[in-house]
Amino acid sequence: MKIHEYQAKDILRQYGVPVPRGEVAESPEKAREIASALKCKVVVKAQIHAGGRGKGGGIRLASSPEEAYEAAQSIIGMKLVTHQTGPDGKIVKKVLVEEATLTKQELYLSLVMDRSRECLVYMASQAGGMDIEEVASRAPEKIIKAAVSPATGFSPFHARKLFYGLGLDKSLSGHFSNIVKGLYQAFIEKDASLLEINPLVITQTGELLAIDAKINFDDDGLYRHPEIKGMRDTDEEDPLEVEAVNTGVNYIKLDGNVGCMVNGAGLAMTTMDLIKLAGGEPANFLDVGGGATAERVEKAFRILTSDPKVKVILVNIFGGILRCDRVATGVIEAASKIEKRLPMVVRLQGTNVDEGRKLLRESSLTFEVAEELYEAASKAVELSK
Ligand code: GDP
Ligand code: MN
Repeated sequence: MKIHEYQAKDILRQYGVPVPRGEVAESPEKAREIASALKCKVVVKAQIHAGGRGKGGGIRLASSPEEAYEAAQSIIGMKLVTHQTGPDGKIVKKVLVEEATLTKQELYLSLVMDRSRECLVYMASQAGGMDIEEVASRAPEKIIKAAVSPATGFSPFHARKLFYGLGLDKSLSGHFSNIVKGLYQAFIEKDASLLEINPLVITQTGELLAIDAKINFDDDGLYRHPEIKGMRDTDEEDPLEVEAVNTGVNYIKLDGNVGCMVNGAGLAMTTMDLIKLAGGEPANFLDVGGGATAERVEKAFRILTSDPKVKVILVNIFGGILRCDRVATGVIEAASKIEKRLPMVVRLQGTNVDEGRKLLRESSLTFEVAEELYEAASKAVELSK
């Protein structure tokens, strides 16, 4: 799960990471009010679940409450397109209004999960700011890393390694260590999956300050953190994916036009591979789960067909716990309620397969039946063209 910058800063503040004073606003009036209470120059920053806002025009400096009002007015409601939003962009609904910082240097600091090393790894760079992706690809030696063993956890050694690697002034060492340590504590205690400060700045008065913050959380740890669950902003998420979460199916929208309904993550991935092998593009990943009811199958079917890009539906079910007749009932129920008639390829195998096929055959639906996996995928791809 992702959260907004202002929420990430609230969390980091609790762990002793210095962040600018500020507040979130949903209207230009509120932005003006915050700016006048802060009594200083402010930055007005679009709050969307994507980075690259600076380059996209979503961040503006304002030297008076009136300018803050104007900045907020132009940012709220704008469609912000950045390299992370995709070409459709995102509509901005909120801005963060905070004390502007006079910066001397922009650093990069993050804590990420390194799956191949099976541990958390800090990454830091002197070349922080807006082009960190470029630094990582062109001059990876400029990124300093410190891996934290899960057995021993954080140690001041990690902070020292980053500190000397960055070549920071001695006067910053204590503050820097606190920030590095705070990131680790926040990561572990909140079940994060990524934590990034870009940039961490050295101000003109010689202090360290996190002027941007990003935290992603491990969805499987959310049940332990109601306060973080409460930060979810479904406006920022794909509506179909939100509905899927509420239904209990695993659905990820993709860019292709072959809609898939499959049971089991492994079979779902195999199905996607075979669609690609047959020259097509899957429109989604959808795992209805093992013990799905006819009702859940119906809902999954509806989610799948709400994507306007879908040209054909491929149902690929291996009936184990989820019996084929239940799937057939769900599909028939759903398809008869949906107005849009799409070509359908069904491949059922396993428990109650004959009953399932019989139900489909006796329904008023028209569909192609396939017995083998690749046959099913290539039929679906053919129909999608
Ligand atoms: P991002 O583009 O979405 O990553 O948003 P950031 O919050 O990182 O802001 C982008 C850039 O705007 C930063 O790298 C800074 O250069 C600049 N910026 C943001 N806030 C301030 C500020 O308070 N003072 C100054 N001088 N620059 C800022
Ligand atoms: Mn940033």
